[in-house]
Amino acid sequence: MCKSCRKGILKNREVAQTFEREGLEVKIEGIPALVCEQCGQVYYAPGISDKIVNAANGLFALSDKKHAGRLRAAV
Ligand SMILES: [Zn+2]
Repeated sequence: MCKSCRKGILKNREVAQTFEREGLEVKIEGIPALVCEQCGQVYYAPGISDKIVNAANGLFALSDKKHAGRLRAAV
């Protein structure tokens, strides 16, 4: 049951999250999450959001400002 709207059903989904820093955008795809069918609230399993942030930081570290643009990665 969704804690946000209190009536939606949570479904296992793969979601994408985008991070932006100094003109560089990175997108992490294939993140396992529970998504509310009613309100769209996304719930990550414990520890997952830390891993996503670490992955985003790794992508930012890969590129420098000269190569501003988009990077994508899948979990
Ligand atoms: Zn909901």
